[in-house]
Amino acid sequence: MGEKKILVVEDEAIVAEAIAFSLKKQGYEVTAIVTNGEEAIEKAAENQPDLVLMDIVLEGDMDGIAAAEKIRTRFHIPTVFLTAYADEETLKRAKLTDPFGYIIKPFQQKDLYVTIEIALHRHELETKMRQALETAEQKASRQTKYVSIAAHELRNPLSAIVGSAKLLELSSKLDEETQIKCLDLMKSASQSMNQLIEDMLIIGRAESDQLKFNPAPLNLREFCRHLVEHFQLSEEKHRITFVCSSTKSVAVIDQRLLQHILSNLISNAIKYSTKGGEVRLELDYWEKAEQVTPRLQENYQLPITNYPIVIFRVRDSGIGIPKQDQEKLFEAFHRCSNVGEIKGTGLGLAIVKKAVELHQGAIAFESEVGVGTTFTVILPASPHPHN
Ligand code: ATP
Ligand code: MG
Repeated sequence: MGEKKILVVEDEAIVAEAIAFSLKKQGYEVTAIVTNGEEAIEKAAENQPDLVLMDIVLEGDMDGIAAAEKIRTRFHIPTVFLTAYADEETLKRAKLTDPFGYIIKPFQQKDLYVTIEIALHRHELETKMRQALETAEQKASRQTKYVSIAAHELRNPLSAIVGSAKLLELSSKLDEETQIKCLDLMKSASQSMNQLIEDMLIIGRAESDQLKFNPAPLNLREFCRHLVEHFQLSEEKHRITFVCSSTKSVAVIDQRLLQHILSNLISNAIKYSTKGGEVRLELDYWEKAEQVTPRLQENYQLPITNYPIVIFRVRDSGIGIPKQDQEKLFEAFHRCSNVGEIKGTGLGLAIVKKAVELHQGAIAFESEVGVGTTFTVILPASPHPHN
């Protein structure tokens, strides 16, 4: 832990020097000594000390209590009051600012130290609690947003099902072709509802840290080959190819999560290259992530520099991802401005990102509108030892 920084606000020069001396002796860094409230606020903003030691009676219009209040609300920096005045009225005003400590002059060096340490500790706890609360609030508001979008997204397929069911009620008046059409529509609407619910469940589990990471040895070459064959079976417009550039291809990876990652990337590559063409999955295995070029290192902020890694690339020559959408691409429900009539809910890449994070891996993409997109996923070939 580094030295804690303390700002001293005291208008009597000799007292101030003595306090600063005493603080330095105890191992604190004194960021500045100032004599009035305005200067105290200025220095608090400039140096961001961990704590302010504040005399109550100060030169100028603003006393220590008013200055402490401003410093606390603006910068969340705690104050310990230091004063020769302990009358009822002053104490009452000081109490209103919820001070972190109160020391009566003259004081023992030990008292000063104990009061400061307690104040720093309490502030640290309060900061942690505030951050935890903020995170919980953000999570809750994200979840509310997800639920309302999901409810909205479920409405379309649901009304398609209800509409078709009503039509089928009149089946005696419908020809066979229309009846089959209605049934097909109901089938595909239920499939898309099912997919949406599945995706929502995965996102929900990931958000509440319940998405489990179960790594096990996996032959990636075989896995990828099967996956590509599976996609090719139901695809006529696209040629789906797989290239493995390494002889080594067994890695300790969570198969279910990898399935989410690659299926989403490949189905996107197919879906967003409306003209057809080639969709290519590439697999590579590197003994040392250090071999990754500096540019890639920077892009991926790899946490795994010295360990073997596997690299997956999914390339397409489709519609591309507009610049203005790139920043939000991995956010749940975000869809790019150029999707037109292409259907989707915007959950696939959010799931991919979570699955990559669980592996302590990295994901990035390069894309040009109208030319194509390449997603690159880097995963440690075995779980990071600190995991
Ligand atoms: P789904 O939840 O069914 O996957 P989706 O495909 O719309 O819906 P994501 O997979 O999360 O959602 O992708 C988010 C958005 O990113 C897409 O809506 C699309 O605009 C854009 N996108 C993703 N992959 C590509 C790609 N290969 N080429 C062009 N745009 C893409
Ligand atoms: Mg998708």
